[in-house]
Amino acid sequence: MTTIENKLQQIHERIASACAQAGRASGSVQLLSVSKTFGADAVREAVLAGERSFGENYIQEGVDKIAAVRAMGLPGGETLQWHCIGPIQSNKTRLVAEHFDWAQTVDRLKIAERLSAQRPEGLAPLQVCIQLNVDGGETKAGVAPQQALELAAAIVQLPRLALRGVMSIPDDAPGFEAQREVHARATTVFEQIRASGLPGLERFDTVSMGMTGDLEAAVAAGSTMVRVGSGIFGQRNYAPR
Ligand SMILES: *Cc1c(COP(=O)(O)O)cnc(C)c1O
Repeated sequence: MTTIENKLQQIHERIASACAQAGRASGSVQLLSVSKTFGADAVREAVLAGERSFGENYIQEGVDKIAAVRAMGLPGGETLQWHCIGPIQSNKTRLVAEHFDWAQTVDRLKIAERLSAQRPEGLAPLQVCIQLNVDGGETKAGVAPQQALELAAAIVQLPRLALRGVMSIPDDAPGFEAQREVHARATTVFEQIRASGLPGLERFDTVSMGMTGDLEAAVAAGSTMVRVGSGIFGQRNYAPR
């Protein structure tokens, strides 16, 4: 087995035992493989090991990688789902709308409007999550929990977007209980939106949170999608870009 295949197996085992611990159905938590900074060859290994969903932070890097992976013509390659999980500036919305399947980091209506307007007609609606700022850092991306419902109500009006859920990237908290408590704030917002009766929530099913270091706490708090990078692909080398 390749190392990536090995590590994927370990991550799937961690997810399964976290589900068991939390009394949740195995299979209720999806894995998003975060391939940022790693090349198309690393993605290829993960695809051959059975993965279908990949997350990218840097939009141009992601667009290039999507094309490189597609050119490999891998078995099942047409069914890959690419998620944008990095900050989206206005001047990058077109690239996201044209190349990604999901945008998880929508935290402003202006960005949502541009993504909807720029989503090509030939593609399925762009699947979006509202990024939440659950730990209150003033400089952090994400909408405050109290403003999430208002943003959701606006997003469901946009024709070329499908609102799928919420995502959060809390700062490291010390220990399992503290991590679980912060993650649970996102689940609370998710439940509030789901219970709101807004139209357009037919596929509102995603709570994206938890990474290599804290996925157990995220699963305990209700995550349905953990985003794991280094636990699969190894340490990242952050070259200046
Ligand atoms: C890099 C990144 C991850 C993966 O982090 P790891 O600690 O490597 O698992 C998950 N989510 C986001 C938004 C990221 O930027």
